Amino acid sequence: GQCVTVCPVGALTEVSEVDKVWQALEDENQHVVVQTAPSIQATMGEPFGMEPGTVVTGKLATALNQLGFDRVFSTDFAADLTIMEEGSELLARLEDKESNTPQITSCCPGWVKFCEHNYPELLDNLSTAKSPMSMFSPLAKTYYAETKDLEAEDIYTVSIMPCTAKKFEKERGELQDSGTQDTDAVLTTRELARMIKEAGIKFAELEDTEYDRMMGEATGAGTIFGTTGGVMEAALRTVYEKLTDEELPRLDLDEVRGLKGVKETAVEIGNDTVKVAVAHGLGNAADLLDQVKAGEANYDFIEVMACPAGCVGGGGQPYPASKEIKAKRGQGLYNIDQSDKIRKSHENPEIKKLYEDFLGAPLSEKAHHLLHTNYQKRDKN
Ligand code: SF4
Repeated sequence: GQCVTVCPVGALTEVSEVDKVWQALEDENQHVVVQTAPSIQATMGEPFGMEPGTVVTGKLATALNQLGFDRVFSTDFAADLTIMEEGSELLARLEDKESNTPQITSCCPGWVKFCEHNYPELLDNLSTAKSPMSMFSPLAKTYYAETKDLEAEDIYTVSIMPCTAKKFEKERGELQDSGTQDTDAVLTTRELARMIKEAGIKFAELEDTEYDRMMGEATGAGTIFGTTGGVMEAALRTVYEKLTDEELPRLDLDEVRGLKGVKETAVEIGNDTVKVAVAHGLGNAADLLDQVKAGEANYDFIEVMACPAGCVGGGGQPYPASKEIKAKRGQGLYNIDQSDKIRKSHENPEIKKLYEDFLGAPLSEKAHHLLHTNYQKRDKN
């Protein structure tokens, strides 16, 4: 499949966990919590005959409820949290001239592993903020578990993801911060489509329902994580406002949208100019990073996604997936953002409550323990 060419770990780890998830759903002693990645809401309609890019967020919630998940939550919520932590980290790096810049995003496991193998000298530039999936799961087993009087072991966490590289990410030893396995199972979009079919659910005909509250509220910023440039755009909306106390003059950052291999722009923030670049596809990323290493490119913040077009082009997404189809999926996510009342991560009311009730502040000790990680040099092969 496509993932073999774009993500260096997919071939090794493509083991279906569908059976394990069915078992967990049937086990009365397991409290099963599911999260869905941002891109899925613009791709899940395709296996059921719907047009690529059709927004199916409400149908997804209904289908997951019908499958028997105890809580239906959203990775977009955790994407907002990633922006809070990663944005705060960027602010700290911009202030400290001695620190490693550019800061480079680390939410894509295909890219992180590629970096560990091929650019170990840039590992200190990777954001220590975990990916949204890997922030969500330890919170489900601590923050959410406490409200239900449950232990971490009583909760079974399932992630619906666009790629098989997420199956590798969940096994990383440094990502077990809840005291137990943080993410129990990862299913791709195609695998969830299979489960929905097996259950006889007519997806295209479902009514819309809402995601559950507490870890289910998403902003437009969290949603556009699923397409190339989205993390950058979401981060700048928040960083700009934190630095200037004013809203970014244009929330739509067109310069980092679209399918050009490497995109760049500069944003005036107060008296400073923050230079950013976005690469999707590992070939484009390598070109950009070679320039950074050679001192030919000078950026403050770089977003890298391993898959062409970002997660809407992930190896676990429905077939077929031409460039046009990926563009339509990306547009579906921008349409959600455009119609959302809340389009900035720091305005997500559930994120505010999480900090008030549990984490304290971005980069707090608790946030560091549960939401940040580190990377390791790996042999080239
Ligand atoms: Fe997975 Fe998205 Fe990275 Fe592709 S770009 S490897 S789908 S996280």
